[in-house]
Amino acid sequence: MPNELKILRELQTYDTKIIKERDIIDNIPKKISEYELPYKEALMNIEKKKKDVESALKQKRDLELNLKEIADNIDKQKARITSLKTNREYSTHIKEIEKIEADKSKLEDKLLMAMENVDKLNKEAKEAEKTLGLEKKKIEEKKKFLEQDQIDLTKDLKSLLSKRNKLAKTLDRTIYNQYMDLLENKYGLAVVEVRDEVCHGCNLNIQPQIYAEVIKNERLHRCLQCGRYIYYDHEAANQK
Ligand SMILES: [Zn+2]
Repeated sequence: MPNELKILRELQTYDTKIIKERDIIDNIPKKISEYELPYKEALMNIEKKKKDVESALKQKRDLELNLKEIADNIDKQKARITSLKTNREYSTHIKEIEKIEADKSKLEDKLLMAMENVDKLNKEAKEAEKTLGLEKKKIEEKKKFLEQDQIDLTKDLKSLLSKRNKLAKTLDRTIYNQYMDLLENKYGLAVVEVRDEVCHGCNLNIQPQIYAEVIKNERLHRCLQCGRYIYYDHEAANQK
C-alpha cells in the first residue's frame, strides 16, 4: 500500500472521531437546556399554585367579612323585635329575619367550600414544592455529568487534534489540500472503502478495470463519481 494511502486512511479515522466528538461537545448546552425543561415547568407550576392559594384565601376572607356583616344585621334585626307594635309587623319582621338567616346559611356553606379549597390548594402547592426540589436535584446531577463529559471530551479532542496534525504534516501538501477539500465538501468523508465494486462514499459502482486496480492498492485512486480517495480493505473483506 502506498504510504500516502496509509496516512490518508489514518487521517480519516482521526477526523471521523474529531467530527463526532466536536458534535457531541457542541450539543451539550442544548442537552442541558432540554434537561432544564421539567425544572422550569415545575417552577412555573409552583408560581401558579401560589397564586391559586392567594386567590382562594382572598375569596375565603371576603366570605368571612360578608358573613360577619350578615350576622351583625341579624343581631340588629332581632334587637328591633321588642319595639314592634302589631302582630302583623311582628310576623313580617320574623319572615325578614328568616330570609337573612337563610342567606347566612348559604354563605356558611360557601365558606366551608372555600376553606376546603384553601386546604386542597395548599396541599397541591406543597406537592409542587416537593416536585421542584426533586427536579432541581435531578438537573444538578445531570448537569454535573454533562459538564464532566465536556471536560473529558475537550481534553480528548485536544490530544486527537495534536496527533492528527502531526500526522497531517507527513502528507504531501497537494494531497492534503485535496483531502481537506473533500472533508469539507463531502460530509466529513474523504477516504472511503470500496467493496463489491461499490464506492462506500457515493454508493455508485466503480468500473471493473479501476476496481481491479484499486484492489491491488499500488497507488492512490479517487472515485470517478464523488472524487473521494478510495481503497480496498483486504482484511475487512476477508472477515465478511
Ligand atoms: Zn464515490
